[in-house]
Amino acid sequence: MTASLSLSEVSAFKKELQSLLEQLQEEVAEDVSSKYKPIDEGVHVHDVGDDAEASVELMMNMGTLAHHSEELAECIAALKRIESGDFGFCTDCGEEIELSRLKACPTASRCIRCQSVYESALKQSA
Ligand SMILES: [Zn+2]
Repeated sequence: MTASLSLSEVSAFKKELQSLLEQLQEEVAEDVSSKYKPIDEGVHVHDVGDDAEASVELMMNMGTLAHHSEELAECIAALKRIESGDFGFCTDCGEEIELSRLKACPTASRCIRCQSVYESALKQSA
């Protein structure tokens, strides 16, 4: 299997992914510090309505955090693929991922075809 990506293209993706990684790490750190603080400080909730509201808010915050963590995991995985030389290949079918797709989304681990199969499977299970 020979990558069609040139070394300079790969290093450009690597730089992009590394800056994305830093950005995401900051976002996750902010999520944790800003969103969990009120709970750590122990906001006293007496009323059931407030309690429910607080839970909804917590769940939403956790959703954002999970979303950022997922992006972070994808970014780390993409950097690992660069290190191992698998970057640019679909993790499902092993075919090359379209360059235009990688440029739009450097963390992409699947080709368009496998990604759409994956997404439709997700939708069905949801
Ligand atoms: Zn594929």
